[in-house]
Amino acid sequence: MEGKIKVSIARDECISCANCWETCPDFFEENPDDGFSQVVKKYRANDNPGEGEAPVELGDCVKEAASECPVEIIHVG
Ligand code: SF4
Repeated sequence: MEGKIKVSIARDECISCANCWETCPDFFEENPDDGFSQVVKKYRANDNPGEGEAPVELGDCVKEAASECPVEIIHVG
């Protein structure tokens, strides 16, 4: 998958602080049912809200969001 960046969110450990979807709203959003972070549908992988593939142009914001997660549950690459 050249040109894509794998991203995962350990959703069961999310504390819904909102940092990721405020930092990178093109890729992360709040799940309306459980309030935890998820990958927006467009970039989701395997029908799993905690898995996705970011296009290169969103790489910087996805990485910034990961670095702003207080519980460090967003893994990039
Ligand atoms: S930054 Fe981390 S803890 Fe905060 S909403 Fe996103 S995934 Fe959850």
